[in-house]
Amino acid sequence: MRSRPEIPPVVCYPVETLPRPDLSAYRAATDGMQLAETVIVPPRDAACFEVKAGQVFRITSVEGPQVGDLNLWNAHDLSERFYSGKTRALHGTHLTEGHQLWSSFPTLRPMATITRDTLNWYRFDADGGGIHDLIGTRCDPYTHHLLSGQNYHYCCHSNLTRALAAQTGLPLHEAEMHVHDVLNVFMCTGFTRDTQQYFMKASPVEPGDYIEFFAEMDLLGALSACPGGDCSATHSSDAAKCYPLEVTIYDLQHMPEGWRPSHTNGYDRSHGISVFGDKRR
Ligand SMILES: [Zn+2]
Repeated sequence: MRSRPEIPPVVCYPVETLPRPDLSAYRAATDGMQLAETVIVPPRDAACFEVKAGQVFRITSVEGPQVGDLNLWNAHDLSERFYSGKTRALHGTHLTEGHQLWSSFPTLRPMATITRDTLNWYRFDADGGGIHDLIGTRCDPYTHHLLSGQNYHYCCHSNLTRALAAQTGLPLHEAEMHVHDVLNVFMCTGFTRDTQQYFMKASPVEPGDYIEFFAEMDLLGALSACPGGDCSATHSSDAAKCYPLEVTIYDLQHMPEGWRPSHTNGYDRSHGISVFGDKRR
């Protein structure tokens, strides 16, 4: 008789050895922070914003419940970008205060730290739904075409592509290659209990709710106001009621105590090959 399902699971990446940010020091440093810039993301569209290392940015719900799809890049090198999959492997399916957004290989370093989240009370509901997920990749016109045979041009993937092209001057299809899996800000999602399929349900976000990030490095961000609106029913169409999102960027009076800018990963990148060949021989 097989007994494998009864073997207890183990966490893939225990985080006891993961350097943790001192959240109280971060929050103390945000006392008296000064608003530097405001960017409004129109509904069914996206906008870019730049944040310097040591600045804070907030994404705020304004006017009505709205989900946002967030991309982050190293402001000086678009090949270093937010790695949603590894961030999920380290912190779990949904992010909140104290979690960090990690960058792609080979740098694998914190890009931003979540310092405040007004929806952190939600935790996980009876359906297993939580807020700010790393499991949905972003709504996109390719999957939509696959499932419906239709073209729709205002999915988050296309919104982010247009915004990045406009910000950088890159040709549209070149900019598209830099768009990556997102943090689904304010979205309420999970996996169905029976088939483990990705689900969404109405976001509890209300105007005034926000999620706040401390930039660990110079960042270029792009945020799309998803055509799904609060993602209670549908996306990839003009059916849902949509609202703008606000991005505000702040200067701090001083850095968090003990804070240092993010440094690249310590792995030597030799991948088992030395100047003398395979290290195992
Ligand atoms: Zn979307």
